[in-house]
Amino acid sequence: MTLTLAQSTLKKIFGYDAFRPLQADIIQTVYDRRDTLVLMPTGGGKSICYQIPALTLEGTAVVVSPLIALMKDQVEGLRGNGAPAAFINSMLSPNQVRDVEDELLAGRIKLLYVSPEKLVSQGFQPLLKRLRISLFAVDEAHCISAWGHDFRPEYTQLKFIKEQYPDVPVLALTATADKVTRRDIAAQLQLNDPVVFIASFDRPNISLTVRPGQRRFEQIAEFLKKRPGQSGIIYCLARRTCEEVAEKLNSRGFKAAAYHAQMSPQERNRVQEDFINDRVPVICATIAFGMGIDKSNVRFIIHYNLPRNLEGYYQEIGRAGRDGLPADALLFFSYQDVMTYRQMFEEGEATAEQKELKIAKLNRMYQFAEAPVCRRKTVLHYFGEAYDKNCGNCDVCQNPPKEFDGTTAAQKAISAILRSGERVGMNMLIDVLRGSRRQEIFQAGYDQIKTYGAGKEYSFEEWQFLLAQMLHHGLIEIAYDENNCLKATEAGRAVVFGKQPVRLALPPKPEEKAAERVAAQRQPSRTAVLRDELFERLVALRRKVGQQQGVPPYLIFSDATLEEMAQKRPVTDADLLYVSGVGERKLQLYGDAFISEIRRFVREKSEEGLNVPGSTYLLSWDLFQQGKPVEEIARLREISPITVVSHLATMYERGELVDISPWASPEALDLVQGALSLFEEPYQLKEIFEHFEHRFSYEAIRFAIADAKRGKRK
Ligand code: ADP
Ligand code: ZN
Repeated sequence: MTLTLAQSTLKKIFGYDAFRPLQADIIQTVYDRRDTLVLMPTGGGKSICYQIPALTLEGTAVVVSPLIALMKDQVEGLRGNGAPAAFINSMLSPNQVRDVEDELLAGRIKLLYVSPEKLVSQGFQPLLKRLRISLFAVDEAHCISAWGHDFRPEYTQLKFIKEQYPDVPVLALTATADKVTRRDIAAQLQLNDPVVFIASFDRPNISLTVRPGQRRFEQIAEFLKKRPGQSGIIYCLARRTCEEVAEKLNSRGFKAAAYHAQMSPQERNRVQEDFINDRVPVICATIAFGMGIDKSNVRFIIHYNLPRNLEGYYQEIGRAGRDGLPADALLFFSYQDVMTYRQMFEEGEATAEQKELKIAKLNRMYQFAEAPVCRRKTVLHYFGEAYDKNCGNCDVCQNPPKEFDGTTAAQKAISAILRSGERVGMNMLIDVLRGSRRQEIFQAGYDQIKTYGAGKEYSFEEWQFLLAQMLHHGLIEIAYDENNCLKATEAGRAVVFGKQPVRLALPPKPEEKAAERVAAQRQPSRTAVLRDELFERLVALRRKVGQQQGVPPYLIFSDATLEEMAQKRPVTDADLLYVSGVGERKLQLYGDAFISEIRRFVREKSEEGLNVPGSTYLLSWDLFQQGKPVEEIARLREISPITVVSHLATMYERGELVDISPWASPEALDLVQGALSLFEEPYQLKEIFEHFEHRFSYEAIRFAIADAKRGKRK
C-alpha cells in the first residue's frame, strides 16, 4: 500500500490537501503492519490516522470507542463524506444490528465502530471471525490504564485482540501524554514492539487566559457579548452553578442551557443535540459534557471553576478550535475552589497515596493559574514537552506583568499575618490591608493591627495577585487543616525582619491596556468586511441545510472550510474542490447550494457598486447563461468582446460547461495546445498569435489555453 493512495484518499474523501505532522508516518507504519501507539492532543487529527488506512486497505477496520455518542458522530461524519462506516452498540435494535452484519459480511463496510463491551462479548466473536479485519484501532486508549484519569474496566479485556488476532496491526490512540499511562497502554494491549508517535501537545490556535474569579458572571457576559452566536462550553464544578449561570445568561439575553448528571438521559441528549446543531450556542456543564462531542466549531471554553488538574484542564480546552481557527480558553481562578477540592479529596474514598497524588496535581494546577509565566510554556512543560519561547497567545505574553520591588508590599502583608496571630484567611487579610470596615474586623480587633489599612494602594484583585506570588515564592503558606488561614514561612519572616528584598509583579492597569488597544485598532479593510459578511451568510446557509437534512451543521462544512470559502469565493465546482475540507461527496451534496449563495453574494455586492474581485467573470457568465451573444454582453457591460470571451474562457477553465466549438476548431485546440510548452505562463496571447502567423484568432487561442488548464485541473 502506498502513501500516494493515502494522499489522494485524503483529498477525495476529506477534501484535505496535506497530512498534518506525523499523520503520514503513522499511516505508513500501519501499512507496514506494525503495532502503533499514537499520542496526540485533542483536535490533533488522530482519526485520520486510522480512517485512511481503513479506507485504503482491504477488509474492514474495527474501531473501539468508549462513547456511544462519539461513535454515532464519527460514523455520521464518515458517511457524509461518502465513506462506508457503521457502528454496533446498544443504541441499535436487533434488526438494525442484523442489517449492519449483512453489510459487513457483504464486505461493504470499511470502518466498524464498536464499544469495548460489545467487542469482547461472546456473542460477537463468530461475526468477528468471519470478517477480514484490516486493523484494530483502539481510541481513547488511556481508558485501559488504572493510572490514567479515565479508567474503564471493560478496556482491560481488550488484550484478547492480540491474543486472537496476532497478525492484525493494532493502532492505539490517546490524548493523554504521561509516561506511566503510555507504558501501561502498550503492556495491557500486549502490543508487539509498538512504534510510538508523540505529537506536540501544543494547540497554538487556542488562546489561554486566566482571570481572578471576582465578578465572574459579569466577566462572562462581557466575553459573550463580543462573540455573538458562537458556540462554547462553560464548565462548572457544581450542578447548581450550571443551572444558575445558564439561567442568568438567558435572563441577560444569551441563549444557554445547563447540562449535568442529575438531568434525565433524554434531557441531556436534547441539550447535546441542540448544541451540536447550533440551536443553543452556550452550554453550562459539569465536566461530563463534551466527552462524546467532536463538534469542530466550538469557539471557546470557559472554566467557571478551577479544574482539578492540568490533564483535565488541557483535555477540556482541547474541545475548542478543532478546526484550527482561533479559539479561546478562559479560566477563572479562586482559592475557594482549591479549598473545595482539598476538602473533597480529604473526605473522598481513596488511599493516602492516591489522595496525595490528587493534591499534588491540584497544586500544579493552581501554580499554573498563579504563576506570571507564559501559560503555554507552563502546561507544555508539565506534559514533558520542551517549549523554550513565549507563545504570544496567552494573557501573560500579551500583558506581561510589570515587575517591581515588592519588599514593602510583602512586609505589609506578612506583618499583618503575624500580628493577627496567623488566624486570617486570604480574603480577610486583604480586607485588613485595605482597611475594610467589615463587622468581623472590628469584632476580632484587627483594626488595631499596625498594617490595618496600610495597603490601600492596591485593589482587592491586585492583592490577590500579589499574595499568590508570595505563596509561590514560599513566603507564606495556606494551612489547609486550620480553616485555610495564612501562615508566614521562615522565608517570609526573613522578609519582615531580615529585610530580604522581594521582586513581585502586577498586570498593567486597565487604562494602560485600553490605550494600547486603541493604538492597535485599525480600520478593517474592505476585503475583510466582505469576507466577514459572506462568512455569516455561509454559516446561516449551513444551519439551514443542516436543518433540512437533519445533519449537524459542522458535519456539513467546518468553520475553517467556510472561512476559506468566504475568502476565496469559489463560483464553480472546480474552484470549490480547491477549498480544504471539500471532498467529492460534499461537493456533490452541497456544492450547488454553496456556490449559488456565493454567486448571489457577489452579484448583490456588484450591484451595490462594490468592486468584488472575481465578480466580473461571473457577471459576464450570468449574461451568457441567459443566452445573450458575446457582442451584446460586451455592449451591456461596456467592455470589449475579447474581454467577454476571456471571461467565458476563465469560467470554462474553472469547470463550467461551454460549447467552445464556435471559437476554437479541434485543429486550433490541437496545434495551440501542442505549442504551449514553448511559452511561459502567464501566456501572452499576442506571442502565440504571432507564432502561428495569425492563423488562429485570439478567441481560439484563449479557449485552447483554457481547455488545457481545465484538463490539468481535472
Ligand atoms: P482528534 O481525534 O485527535 O481529537 P480529529 O481526528 O477529530 O482530532 O481531528 C480534528 C479536526 O482536524 C477534524 O475537524 C479533522 O477533520 C481535522 N483534520 C484532521 N487531519 C487534517 C488534515 N490533514 N488537514 C486538515 N484538517 C485535518
Ligand atoms: Zn504565552
